[in-house]
Amino acid sequence: MTRPKLSPKAPFPSAAGMRPGQRVFDAKQHDPYQAAGKYAEPTVCPDCRAIFHAGHWQWGDAPQGAQQTRCPACRRIHDKLPAGWLTLGGAQFNAHRADVLAHLHKVAAREREEHPLNRVMAIEEGPDEVVVTTTDVHTPQRIAEALKRQHHGDFDIRYGLDEYSVRVHWRA
Ligand SMILES: [Zn+2]
Repeated sequence: MTRPKLSPKAPFPSAAGMRPGQRVFDAKQHDPYQAAGKYAEPTVCPDCRAIFHAGHWQWGDAPQGAQQTRCPACRRIHDKLPAGWLTLGGAQFNAHRADVLAHLHKVAAREREEHPLNRVMAIEEGPDEVVVTTTDVHTPQRIAEALKRQHHGDFDIRYGLDEYSVRVHWRA
């Protein structure tokens, strides 16, 4: 599966999520995938079954008659438009790749459980690096912090100009 968008060298999608004809959004305040007040209550996501209740998306049982609307995370998955990229590399990483990735899966599962919109979208394994894409800008840093605690190495964080995309690079 080759998706140029996932290349760590690709430029930031500066107008992420914009539709043709849509005005430039006020990027500092509005993630186009998180439009506040857009969802009726209760709403259930037909893809992941998260429910929108009390102003935020959470895991739970959908009440009878809930509206069906795709949640922001599933919209990003559907659009194949990640908010976060996490690149893993380095000799130590590659020597222990399976262990590190197993740890990554655990951290990602915990993050998704606590924050339904924070998810790993794809994990692309290359010969030297692994690129992980996420539906949100927090998960790459949370994973990198957890990997650093357990497997050392270090990471840097670069936010996109719109503040709704992030690239984290961890090397060990
Ligand atoms: Zn969903």
